[in-house]
Amino acid sequence: MVRQSEMYDVTIVGAGPVGLYATYYAGLRDCKTKLIEMYPQVGGRLISMYPEKEIFDVAGHMKILARDLITQLTDQAMQYRPTVVLGERVTGLRVRGERVIELSTPNGRHFTQTAVIAVGCGAFVPRKLDIPHLIDLEGHGIHYYLPSFEPFRGKKVLVMGGGNSAVDWALSLEGIAAEVTLAHRMYKFQAHEAMVDRLLASKVKVLFPYFALKEVLGEDRVTGAVIWNERSGKEERIEVDAIVLSIGMLTNLEPFRQWGLTIVGSGIAVATDMSTNMPGVTRRGTSRPIPERFCSSPRARGRPPRRSTRPRSTSMRETSGDSAAARALIPRHGTAPSTPHEYLPPGSRRRRPPRPRRAGKKAARRPRCTG
Ligand SMILES: Cc1cc2nc3c(=O)[nH]c(=O)nc-3n(C[C@H](O)[C@H](O)[C@H](O)COP(=O)(O)OP(=O)(O)OC[C@H]3O[C@@H](n4cnc5c(N)ncnc54)[C@H](O)[C@@H]3O)c2cc1C
Repeated sequence: MVRQSEMYDVTIVGAGPVGLYATYYAGLRDCKTKLIEMYPQVGGRLISMYPEKEIFDVAGHMKILARDLITQLTDQAMQYRPTVVLGERVTGLRVRGERVIELSTPNGRHFTQTAVIAVGCGAFVPRKLDIPHLIDLEGHGIHYYLPSFEPFRGKKVLVMGGGNSAVDWALSLEGIAAEVTLAHRMYKFQAHEAMVDRLLASKVKVLFPYFALKEVLGEDRVTGAVIWNERSGKEERIEVDAIVLSIGMLTNLEPFRQWGLTIVGSGIAVATDMSTNMPGVTRRGTSRPIPERFCSSPRARGRPPRRSTRPRSTSMRETSGDSAAARALIPRHGTAPSTPHEYLPPGSRRRRPPRPRRAGKKAARRPRCTG
C-alpha cells in the first residue's frame, strides 16, 4: 500500500526542455508533480552539450542562447512548486496496479499515477571514427561537443559533419576561432536549408562533398589533419588546433525495453495521444496537456483546489517566474471583445439586437473600411 503523501499525479523522467515544459504543464493542470533527472542539473542536452550555442528555431524567439532558454523553461516549470529530484537515474518502471506506477532509482522508489518519459534519445554516446591515434587525443584537440567556445578563441578548427550540429558549430565558431573549416563526406547537407545558405555565405572554408577525415596529426595534441576526397582520392593536409567530430550519436534504448516498453526503430512506440503500451506511461510531454483522466487533482474533478500541501523541492532551488513583468511585455492587442460571444443552444433563434435609429438622411455616411 502506497502512502498518499508518496503518491504523485504525474512524474516526469528527464529534465531536458521537454521534461521541463511537461512539468510546467502538469502544474498548470493542478497535478501534484515530480521531476526526476539523472544529472545534478536540469537542461538536458542544451546544458550538457551546447549551453553557449544560439538556437534559431524556437517559436517566438529570433534567436536565444541554449542556456537562456533553459533558464526561462526552468522558471516557468518551477511556478507550481514541483518536487525536483536531481542526480537520480530511473532504472526501473513497474505498473503495480490500476493507477499506481513505481519508478525505481538506485536511491529508492517513486510512486505516481502517470509517468511521462522525457529522456530524449536515452543514453547516448557520440559516434566515433576508427582512425589511429584519435581516441588518445580526445580532450587534447579532439572534441565531440562544445560546452564553451572560449577555448577555441584564435585557434584553427576543423568541424567534421554536415548535419544541424556541425553547421551550427562551424557558424558559432566563425567569429571566435581564427579559421574554421567544415568537411562533409555526404553528397548533401542534412542541416536546415537556411543555415546551409548562411554557412556557404560565411567565411567558413567548406570542403564538400565526399571529404572525409583520414588522419589526425600531432603527438600530445592535435596539430593537423589529413582530409581526403573519397571519390577523387585527392588528399589535403591542413593545419588545425582542434577537430570537432559532429557525425551523429549512438543511442541506447535497451533499458526502456527492459521496463516493458515497446521499442520501434530508435524510439519508444506511442499512440497518437503519446501513450505507450504500458497504462499510465506517456512518452515525452511536449505541448500536449496531461489528460484529466490521469489527474487526481480536486480542481480537475470540479472541487475547489486544495491548499498547498504539496511537498516542496529539497533537491533544488525553487524559483517562481516574474509574471507581472512578463505580462507587461505582452502587447495589448487582441483584448477580449467588449461584447462576448453568446452561446445559443442548437435550434434556438438568435434575437437581433434593435437597430440604432438613423439620424435622418442628413447623417454622414461612414467611410467603408477597405483595410
Ligand atoms: C549539438 C546539438 C545542437 C542542437 N541544436 C539544436 C537547435 O539549434 N535547435 C533545436 O531545436 N534542437 C537542437 N538540438 C536537438 C535538441 O537538443 C533536442 O531536440 C532536445 O534536447 C530534446 O529535448 P529532450 O528534453 O527531449 O531531451 P534531452 O535534452 O536529451 O533531455 C533528456 C534528459 O533526460 C535525462 N535522462 C535520460 N535518461 C534518464 C533516466 N533514466 N533517468 C533520469 N533522467 C534521465 C537526461 O539526463 C537529460 O537531461 C541539438 C542537439 C545537439 C546534440
